[in-house]
Amino acid sequence: AKEKGRNNYQFFKDEMNTRTAERLAIEGYLRDALERNEFILHYQPKVNLETGMITGAEALLRWLHPEWGLVMPERFVQIAEDSGLIIPIGRWVLREACMQAKRWEETGLRLDSIAVNISAVEFRLKDFANSVYTILNETGLNPQRLQLEITESILMRDVESSITILHQLKTIGVKLVIDDFGTGCSSVNYLHQFSIDTLKIAPAFVQEIGHDNGNNGVIVSAVIAMGASLKQHVTAEGVEKWEQLAFLKVQHCEEGQGYFFSRPIVAEQFAQLLVTGLSD
Ligand code: C2E
Ligand code: CA
Ligand code: CA
Repeated sequence: AKEKGRNNYQFFKDEMNTRTAERLAIEGYLRDALERNEFILHYQPKVNLETGMITGAEALLRWLHPEWGLVMPERFVQIAEDSGLIIPIGRWVLREACMQAKRWEETGLRLDSIAVNISAVEFRLKDFANSVYTILNETGLNPQRLQLEITESILMRDVESSITILHQLKTIGVKLVIDDFGTGCSSVNYLHQFSIDTLKIAPAFVQEIGHDNGNNGVIVSAVIAMGASLKQHVTAEGVEKWEQLAFLKVQHCEEGQGYFFSRPIVAEQFAQLLVTGLSD
């Protein structure tokens, strides 16, 4: 038993060392990734469930590493946050997404909105609202066309300061989206003070639709009803199956996003999709 314990410990230690080594390697490469132009954005459509039209896009960050290939955000965003690198990277994402939306607009492909994910680190920066304002000015994108997606748990971490920051952003004219809504325990009272435009239902709840064992869509229905009474838009995220779409339509959910419609795709493909529309 003693021998086994030692082996387990050894295994744990090796595992930790590998992970620390991987983290360090990623962090090292991340430092140069911006200069080397290794980041790209993929875009996933948001769809009006009544008309089937593409209304917007969410910009999702990918890292094209010269050796590792396409690296997904799960592997590097946390490391970028811990090291502060998310600040310049986040600015790049914001500028690139706004520029892309503006370019599409200029070629006659107009979207209601382009959405960008904001990390906790960026959100709490003293000059965050300012840098958003600057980027909008530089790119010429109408602030009303920019959605900032902020997770519910980020907002709930320090409610008072969240309210202040959200009001600053609101003053600029951008749209605010609570991402992964339903997972962060905000009260209806806060929702009101947050001056949020859109609730984005977390995929976990959408996935429960059609499963007898789960809550079978009751949370989804509740959020849709809440959005209606609070006059907030509602987007269902992670729509993968036809049954989920059917349920959401019956519940009059306004907007959906998920693999059922399209995976996140590169800008050129997205433009193509805007021209042809989604096939059904
Ligand atoms: P998120 O903001 O919740 O983004 C949605 C994620 O779900 C994306 O993963 C998307 O590809 C995936 N997804 C979309 N439809 C479906 C579906 O039908 N089924 C399933 N199973 N998944 C679906 P992705 O692109 O890997 O991004 C993961 C997370 O990384 C994002 O979650 C977001 O928190 C973060 N992230 C992505 N881009 C950025 C960025 O530019 N800045 C920051 N700070 N975080 C980002
Ligand atoms: Ca998001
Ligand atoms: Ca989400």
